[in-house]
Amino acid sequence: MMTLLPLSCMRARDVLAHRALEDADPVVALAALVPAARPQVEATLRQLYFPTPPPELLEPEELRTAREWFHAAYRQRLTAALETLRWTWSTALDPPRPRQRDAAAYCPRCLDQFRAGRSRCEACSGQSLVAFPDPAAS
Ligand SMILES: [Zn+2]
Repeated sequence: MMTLLPLSCMRARDVLAHRALEDADPVVALAALVPAARPQVEATLRQLYFPTPPPELLEPEELRTAREWFHAAYRQRLTAALETLRWTWSTALDPPRPRQRDAAAYCPRCLDQFRAGRSRCEACSGQSLVAFPDPAAS
């Protein structure tokens, strides 16, 4: 191909990668091919496990049911694919290390940390916060 069509060899990598990855989920392809992209893959997993709660009044029941079904199906497919890569995805859901002594809770979706007195992450449309595990309990 390179001898007959030298200009085509510039695109050979694109053509071969497209065919090799055409059935792959983009997140799985990213996890398999770009180890440095782990934070982006983990963020995608957290978004699937902790979807942004939409305004209740604006979402019809059928849409909410379809959205929840899609998230569950995609979550299952994605985690199964990551497990075939021997990718330890479950650590993406672990609590972060507290950045401040007075950090009392974190947002499971964006991992922002909050002092006591807050119960929701405004950046994530009101996602409920999760209290840090009590260090005295462990
Ligand atoms: Zn958040």
